[in-house]
Amino acid sequence: MKPPAPFKSGYASLIGKPNVGKSTLINELVLTKIAAMSRKPQTTRNKITGVVHIPGGQIILVDTPGIHESTSKLNQFMVRASLSTYNDMDLILFVIDANQGFCPEDQFVLKSLQEAKTPKILILNKIDLVPKPELLTLMDAMNAKKIFSELIPVSALKKDGLDVLKNVILQRLPEGPQYFPSDMVTDCPEEFLLAEIIREKIMNMTHFEIPYSAAVLIDQTEERDNGMLVITATIFVERSSQKKILIGEKGAMLKQIGRQARVEIEKRFGVRVYLSLFIKVKSGWSEQNRSIKELCDFNVSYKDR
Ligand code: GDP
Ligand code: MG
Repeated sequence: MKPPAPFKSGYASLIGKPNVGKSTLINELVLTKIAAMSRKPQTTRNKITGVVHIPGGQIILVDTPGIHESTSKLNQFMVRASLSTYNDMDLILFVIDANQGFCPEDQFVLKSLQEAKTPKILILNKIDLVPKPELLTLMDAMNAKKIFSELIPVSALKKDGLDVLKNVILQRLPEGPQYFPSDMVTDCPEEFLLAEIIREKIMNMTHFEIPYSAAVLIDQTEERDNGMLVITATIFVERSSQKKILIGEKGAMLKQIGRQARVEIEKRFGVRVYLSLFIKVKSGWSEQNRSIKELCDFNVSYKDR
C-alpha cells in the first residue's frame, strides 16, 4: 500500500490591482464571506486571511489592499502592507481581470513584486466575460513573460475553475502542519468581520468620496439572554457634509445601511441582531497615521504568530 501523501500547508498572497476580484475569489475559495466586496475599487484596507481546507492540505490566503500609485497617506499605508507580505509567502497569486487584459496598472503591481523570489501563479479572473479565442491570446502573451509558474483561468463569480486552482496551489505548497483547526476559516477578530459587513453596505450605497472616507469601529457587542446579539458601531467620516449624506433624508440612508448590514450579519452568524449605528466626524482621519492605525490596522502578522 502507498503511504498517505504528506500534509501540505502554506501561505499564499493574493496580489492585484483594485477591482480584479480578489475579495470575491477569497470568499468563494473559503466559502464564507470574509472580505468586503463592492463595485468600487479598493474596498479592502487590510490583510485578511482566509483558510481553505482541502483533503491533504490547508491553504492560508492573504487578501491585500490594492496597490497603486498614490500620494495619500492612507494609500501609502496600504501599499506598504502589501509589499511587506511578499517575502513571507510560500506563493504569490497574481490576479488580473481577463476581460481587461494586462494593463499598465497590472504592470505597475507586477514590477513591485519582481524582486520577490516567491513562485508566482497568474490567475486570470472574470473569464465569464471573455470569448475563448481572446482568452487564449491573452494566456499566450502572459506565458511569454516567463514570470509565472502557472496560468489559471477562473471565474470567481461563476465558481468556475476554482477546484483546479485549489489543486494547483496545493501542489506548490511545502509539507507543513495544519496551522488552523478545520472549523476555522479566518483569524480576523469577529469585530473586524462585523465592521467589514457594515463598511461594505456603506460602500455599496454611497458615491464619490464617501466610500473612501468612511471607517467603521464596533463599540460593543453583547449577547442577551434571549439570544439577541446587540451591536453598537460608529461610522467615522471626515466632514460634516459627509455625515449629512450618510444620515440621509430623515435618516433614510443610515436606516437602509443598518437594515442591510443587520440582515447580512444575521445570515452569517445565525443569530438575531439589534444594530445601532452612530456617525462621528473625525476630520482628515485618512491623512493621519495614528488614525489610520486605529481604524484600519489589526496588525495581523503571519508566520511568527
Ligand atoms: P478586489 O478589489 O480585487 O477585491 O475586487 P472585488 O472582489 O471587490 O470585485 C470587484 C468587482 O468584480 C465586483 O463587482 C465583483 O462582483 C466583480 N467580479 C469578481 N469576480 C468576477 C468574475 O469572475 N466575473 C465577473 N463578471 N465579475 C467578477
Ligand atoms: Mg478587495
